[in-house]
Amino acid sequence: MKRIVRAPAKLNLGLDAPFVHPDGSIEWRMVMTSIGLSDHLQIETTNRHSKIRIFSDSSFLPNDKRNLAYQAAHLFLTKMNIQTGLEISIKKNIPVAAGLGGGSTDAAAVLRTLNEIFETGLSFDELAQIGAQVDSDVPYCVFSRTALVSGRGEIVTPLKKLPKMWFVLAKPNISVSTPRILKQVATTPVSHPPIDELLAGIEDSDYDRIAANIGNSLECITSASHPQIDTLKSRLIEYGADGSQMSGSGPTVFGICRTESRAHRVYNSLSGFCHETYITQPECDTHPAF
Ligand code: ATP
Repeated sequence: MKRIVRAPAKLNLGLDAPFVHPDGSIEWRMVMTSIGLSDHLQIETTNRHSKIRIFSDSSFLPNDKRNLAYQAAHLFLTKMNIQTGLEISIKKNIPVAAGLGGGSTDAAAVLRTLNEIFETGLSFDELAQIGAQVDSDVPYCVFSRTALVSGRGEIVTPLKKLPKMWFVLAKPNISVSTPRILKQVATTPVSHPPIDELLAGIEDSDYDRIAANIGNSLECITSASHPQIDTLKSRLIEYGADGSQMSGSGPTVFGICRTESRAHRVYNSLSGFCHETYITQPECDTHPAF
């Protein structure tokens, strides 16, 4: 059996780290949304007993058990006691290690698809529980719709569909280590963005209130060693975005625009300064099937 599925990137509209647990893990309060920029996965069953093979068109990705898609498939097959082999081919469109959840969304797409292929009938909550063992962003990516994410990433509360808006993404040509950034949260005084205001804006479908209340606690940590982040944020605003910030632990930054024409203006102006830019919209709010 063969399925081809889409795995959308995520953006953090709001990211707060209210405290660090005694074991060093972070308590999150994040508003996340999924966007049009997506990987494509082909997932095919084989008769090679429980053998999982990963293929991808990206030289940056491991094709072995370090790949999050592999880990998700292995956990699923083991938990459901299924001995079928799998071949998973990933067409990578989401920049790797960019703060856009590329690995987590691939893992979540594998879980959703295997649940369908094998008709195992797990709920999204149950798939999210398996996904939490792979990475803290996988539970959100199982739902892949606008949501409040809390706890260590495992509590996903779906929110109202966002009003119409466009995002202009800029990925600076730098690498950021997520574990290194997260380690600094315990020792760095971070800002706490107004998540409740953001939630109220989403509840009221109020674009202006949403744009005014985006924010990311991790931004000051990443931009301390990568000043390009602040420069790109300022340019996004200068060129016409209504708000700008970093996604996840970075380095990708995004600007938020009310209209498509404004987004194109920002995108065109930015292209000269950052060669990896994207224009996209929130989507997948009508999920589950994509
Ligand atoms: P996060 O913020 O959740 O750590 P990210 O969005 O910044 O993630 P990813 O694109 O998920 O970054 O990549 C993080 C790491 O995961 C990279 O070192 C990459 O090699 C590894 N990885 C494993 N599997 C995948 C995959 N299927 N797609 C992307 N990266 C993967």
